Amino acid sequence: MANKALTSEEIFSLDSNYVTKTYARSPVALVRGEGAVAFDPEGRRFIDFGSGIGVNSFGFCDAEYVSAVTDQLSAIQHCSNLYYTEPCARLAELLCEKSGMKRVFFGNSGAEANEGAIKIIRKYAHDRYGDERSMIVTLKNSFHGRTITTLAATGQDVFHTDFGPFPAGFEYADMDSDSILALLSRKDCAGILVETVQGEGGVNAVPGELLELIDRVTKENDQLFAVDEVQTGCGRTGRFFSYQHYGIKPDVVTAAKGLGGGLPIGAVLVGERAEDTLSPGKHGSTFGGNPVCCAGALSVVGRMDEAFLADVRARADKMRALLAAIPQVASLSGLGLMIGVTLDPALDIKTPDVLAACRERGLLVLSAKTKIRMLPPLNISDEAIEDGSRILAEVCAELSAAK
Ligand code: PLP
Repeated sequence: MANKALTSEEIFSLDSNYVTKTYARSPVALVRGEGAVAFDPEGRRFIDFGSGIGVNSFGFCDAEYVSAVTDQLSAIQHCSNLYYTEPCARLAELLCEKSGMKRVFFGNSGAEANEGAIKIIRKYAHDRYGDERSMIVTLKNSFHGRTITTLAATGQDVFHTDFGPFPAGFEYADMDSDSILALLSRKDCAGILVETVQGEGGVNAVPGELLELIDRVTKENDQLFAVDEVQTGCGRTGRFFSYQHYGIKPDVVTAAKGLGGGLPIGAVLVGERAEDTLSPGKHGSTFGGNPVCCAGALSVVGRMDEAFLADVRARADKMRALLAAIPQVASLSGLGLMIGVTLDPALDIKTPDVLAACRERGLLVLSAKTKIRMLPPLNISDEAIEDGSRILAEVCAELSAAK
């Protein structure tokens, strides 16, 4: 017999009694959704400008996605990686076609994808230079995940406490050419891992010239260049991968979040220099390449052709124009539909207050450091863009008037 559905208050209380206290959750429970809009048990409506955190690429319960996933679920839900499945093989092919990469390893999350990238960078160097080369450069203010190694790779001191000892072998560069070049020129440097736009770190885009410099120097030094596209990838910035905005060809690319459209999947794409680095027995994952997750990802990625990406860029232009017109907004950062909003510092409006007031009015937005962060569904309707931007404008006016 089905359990009686709980109210929001009942869900909050049950969760706070039994779920680890790892998330500072906001008082919202979502039970169903459609497009960019979700509802709580009491029927309150929320426009989601976060798509989870950059996950629901086609919004909630997109019909094509749901049928791709449920068809696969009723055919075969899992088989071990000792055997083959069609969705996994097809998805790898599609990702290679979209990126020019040569091979794909599938895992289950962004952190795991970055673990895979780190293993590839290290093994490529060890295969050629022995133990002499193992250091990996990452950027200050980066975020690469919550496993012990990806925390070590993350260039923020706040993540380097409580869980030590952390693995050695990461050095953090400032976002400038001198600092990056100094580390890349070290004899023990195996490679570099960077986000093109730092998401959790505050929606900060890395200048294209820096990415081009890294691309050139790593090739000269026989180091691997890995791009963490966990947040920026799969159409988010208006190109399939954000590195495709620049004239660069990374050796390793990681993806997760929006790749699965709502189901857990991560991927490490490997270019030609390193395509044979991982040999049998060197890496693996029980659930990696799960056919249901791959079928969902195929439905998402399969629709991201050039026309779709052009629409993403047009939606981003529209949304950015509406946000920039809010009088309290000082600047916008990021790329495409990955948007950081900075309010006029003179107004001293606190970001958590903005999030709470938006929520009260039925708009879910995210934060990143002091910025308001938006990662809306890539197919968000004009109406949802307009309604959400209007709510933010009302909240900004109200909070600045209260000062
Ligand atoms: N890398 C980047 C750039 C991210 O933004 C995140 C998550 O926010 C991760 C890695 C970790 O991904 P996951 O939470 O799926 O492990």
